[in-house]
Amino acid sequence: MSDVLNPQQRHRCMSHIRSKATKPEMLVRKWLWAHGYRYRLNVKSVPGKPDIVMRKYRTAIFVNGCFWHGHEGCKQFVLPKTNSDFWQTKIACNRERDQRNYDELMHAGWQVIVLWQCKLTKQELEPTMHSVAVALNQNLLRCI
Ligand SMILES: [Zn+2]
Repeated sequence: MSDVLNPQQRHRCMSHIRSKATKPEMLVRKWLWAHGYRYRLNVKSVPGKPDIVMRKYRTAIFVNGCFWHGHEGCKQFVLPKTNSDFWQTKIACNRERDQRNYDELMHAGWQVIVLWQCKLTKQELEPTMHSVAVALNQNLLRCI
């Protein structure tokens, strides 16, 4: 396993890959804003530095690319034929880190919402965000 990634690759694996906003993330933000939800971005003091943090709802939202975060069973998650050992390790590593972050957040009493890129297409955005709104409002009740 350790032979698969060289130190530079390992470093990349450990370092943060969500430094700049992706298009799906922008769609989520726009929707939230348009529906009156206020949020903060990449708050460092919150475990895992979620893409979107909604303190009022004690909710952290992660917008995950299906490939990089290894969306199980998703047709957008297909390992390249070449170098597939490398990719497999790389993505397993991302998933492990994601899970650690989610666990840490949930232990700290946060609701964690993971939004997959494939659920944020033109057709899927509205129903996906509708269930986000439901989850937010349920959690708000719990927080009070
Ligand atoms: Zn997907």
